[in-house]
Amino acid sequence: AIKINNLIKKFDDNTVLKDISLEVENGKIVSIIGPSGSGKSTLLRCIANLEKITAGDIEIYGHPLVIKGKYVSHKKQRELTNDMNMVFQSFNLFPHYSALDNIVRPQMLVEGKTRENAVEVAVKLLERVNLYHRKDAYPSQLSGGESQRVAIARSLARSPKMILFDEPTSALDPEMVTEVLEVIRGLKDEGMTLVIVTHEMNFAREISDRVIFMADGKIVEDGTPQELFENTKNKRAADFIKKIL
Ligand code: ATP
Ligand code: MG
Repeated sequence: AIKINNLIKKFDDNTVLKDISLEVENGKIVSIIGPSGSGKSTLLRCIANLEKITAGDIEIYGHPLVIKGKYVSHKKQRELTNDMNMVFQSFNLFPHYSALDNIVRPQMLVEGKTRENAVEVAVKLLERVNLYHRKDAYPSQLSGGESQRVAIARSLARSPKMILFDEPTSALDPEMVTEVLEVIRGLKDEGMTLVIVTHEMNFAREISDRVIFMADGKIVEDGTPQELFENTKNKRAADFIKKIL
C-alpha cells in the first residue's frame, strides 16, 4: 500500500504537483488518466523515489519514505522502494544484452545471485510472458510488444509487490497493445498492486478498481471506473474522456 498526503512537487518555480493526496491499497489496481503535462509521470516517479518531492508525505507499506518533505535515510529509502518497480513507455532495455540477459544481469548485479539461479528465474519469467522462444534476441531484433514484455519480465524478477506502469502501451503499434495488456491483466489476477498511467480507456475501465483523473497537477476526479466513465462529475474530465474514447 502507498499513502500520499499533501504532496507538492516543484521544478524550480514551476509547481507541477499541487497538493496530491492518494492511497493505493494492497492488491488494488489504480489507473491514472489525464492530459499531457498534468503531472502523471512525475507522480509515478515521486512514488518510485526517482524524483524528490518538495513537500508532503509518502508512506510505503506503513513506513514513511518522506514526512513533511523530509526523507528518511538513504538506506531506509532503498529498503522501502525495494518492493516497487517502474515500467516505462520506452522499455529501457539494455541494448547490448539479449532478452534473457536483460533479465539475468540485473539479478546478478543487484541481488548478487549466481548466473545459474538468475537464469532459472529468467527462463520462468520469459515463459510467463510467452517469449521463451525469443530469449537470445537482442532488443533491436524485438518488436515493441516483445520489448515491453521483456521489460515487464525483468521487473518481475525482483518479486515486487507493486509495479508502476507509465504508459506501457503508448509506444506500441495497435496490434501489439493487446499482448502487453494481457500480461498486465495476468498480474492483477495474481494480486499484485498496480498503478497504471494509460491512455487505454477501455482497459482502464475494465481492469481498475479505481481511476484517477489528473489535470494541471491536481487530482480532479477519483472514483470507480463506473463513476469516472459513466457518471463523470468534473467537466474537464468528461471532455477528456469523450475526446479520447
Ligand atoms: P504526458 O501525458 O505527456 O506524459 P504527464 O502528465 O506525464 O504528461 P509530466 O511528465 O509529469 O506530465 O510533466 C508535468 C509537468 O512537469 C510538465 O509541465 C513538465 O514540463 C514538467 N516537468 C517534468 N519533468 C521535469 C523536469 N525534470 N524538469 C522540469 N520540468 C519537468
Ligand atoms: Mg507522462
